[in-house]
Amino acid sequence: MTNGAHHDPVTVMRRAVAALHAELTRYGLVAWTAGNVSGRVRRPEASGDLVVIKPSGVSYDELTPESMVVCDLYGRVLDGGLAPSSDVAAHCHIYREMPQVGGVVHTHSPYASAWAARGEAIPCVLTAMADEFGGPIPVGPFALIGGDEIGRGVVATLRDSRSPAVLMRNHGVFSIGATPRDAVKAAVMCEDVARTVHIARQLGTPVPIAAEHIDQLYDRYQNVYGQR
Ligand SMILES: [Zn+2]
Repeated sequence: MTNGAHHDPVTVMRRAVAALHAELTRYGLVAWTAGNVSGRVRRPEASGDLVVIKPSGVSYDELTPESMVVCDLYGRVLDGGLAPSSDVAAHCHIYREMPQVGGVVHTHSPYASAWAARGEAIPCVLTAMADEFGGPIPVGPFALIGGDEIGRGVVATLRDSRSPAVLMRNHGVFSIGATPRDAVKAAVMCEDVARTVHIARQLGTPVPIAAEHIDQLYDRYQNVYGQR
């Protein structure tokens, strides 16, 4: 392999997306094969961007960079011997409609999916939620898998929200980010706050955070926090 092939953007994204699936199991977000990560490879407009996504039905232990599937933005397989995740249409719809999105994650993580099963948004009652989500984590519509109905519901819900995660009704979580890693982080944080707020509900009523404080926390975390 030449150095050029080693560093070509599709190869780099295959490695990143394959490795990030280990975070889904590490944080307890997935059972069996029900969860997937994808990443966008940006290309000149004439060529069209590519999507690197998990193959369908392959266990997380067996995922390799080579087994990732490369599609166009319409889910047509361009490279890979396996079928893409059954959620590929939703991922692709999100990439087509939200050009700023570079990574998408889908899970049925248990606490977040419990909120989705009730069709209830997670209220913003923790500073960590204000930081990451800038408000409640919203609920998206019920949608059947297969076409782009799920993708349309995700986009319609997230377009008007600061939250990078949505609870799709009766289903589970879709999260987005500038990179696949950011989308995985949003999925992990979504499950974390879903669990904590659930626990808080068991013994009483969580106290809301004032809108102005949510704005201040969100602004600080998004613009000041961390290594610059
Ligand atoms: Zn699902």
